[in-house]
Amino acid sequence: MPIHLPQLTRRDFLKRAALAGVAAMLAPGAFAKTRDEDMLAFFSDTHIAADPAEISRHVNMADHLTAVVRDFSAWPVAPAAVIVNGDLALKEGLPGDYATFGKLIDPVRALAPIHLSLGNHDERQHFWSAFPADAAKTAEAALQRQVAVFATARANWFLLDSLDQTNVSDGLLGSAQLGWLATKIAARPAKPAVVVVHHNPATSTEKAGLKDVDALMEVLASHRQVKACVFGHTHDWHVETHVSGVHLINLPPTAYVFKDGRPSGWVRATLTDEGAEFELRALDRTHPEHGQIKKLAWRTA
Ligand SMILES: [Zn+2]
Repeated sequence: MPIHLPQLTRRDFLKRAALAGVAAMLAPGAFAKTRDEDMLAFFSDTHIAADPAEISRHVNMADHLTAVVRDFSAWPVAPAAVIVNGDLALKEGLPGDYATFGKLIDPVRALAPIHLSLGNHDERQHFWSAFPADAAKTAEAALQRQVAVFATARANWFLLDSLDQTNVSDGLLGSAQLGWLATKIAARPAKPAVVVVHHNPATSTEKAGLKDVDALMEVLASHRQVKACVFGHTHDWHVETHVSGVHLINLPPTAYVFKDGRPSGWVRATLTDEGAEFELRALDRTHPEHGQIKKLAWRTA
């Protein structure tokens, strides 16, 4: 049941902005940009409240997301896709949170298709209600989870749904979803696979936020085409490599951080035949990790 917001034409975009009574916030030449089929953009942990003035941990989350969207929109080329990896809503996934989130993310739709996933501060039914046109029923309806598979030039992308209970920290994939994942990965042996999930597997800096993390890592490690796992949840930009050779990419939040001094922002990935580069785009341009590029080589099949 993928929530896939298709890219808008310039005409549709301006029409929607006019209907919503908001000024169309567009980078100059947004619709004329060339697309880099090897580039993807990742936003995570946006934590948007219904009221865009809401502040949490000294951060205005709507302002942060707006700044991220602006920086993303100013990039000289458009990506193949944008993934927003969960905790879209502030805390409880209220309908108003998604209405505001939808408005703030709308400018991105002028540039690229968007894939949305869910975290522990989302509420699945409210989310699906907020994006009805995109909640197309698919063959995955039986899972009742927000999962998706899509392909770019050099990789297959598998988006999971680790939301267990809204506003309860730990996540759970469940055996049905893990079985679905294994089947989908096995059916696509030719290209590198990257798995995207909100909750974090165990890393050197954090304990796992996912209750069935061992079962997930078994699926990832045992399929040689799986090269990387991208996640959020910890609000802490961090990249390392699992013992299996699968790279673990912890996205920064667009919203607040949990530890002083850590960066907020977004991540730009560029794929090659041999691996990928993940670049941190910090909101604070003076942050020492702003512009940091992690060069990852894919494990060999
Ligand atoms: Zn979060």
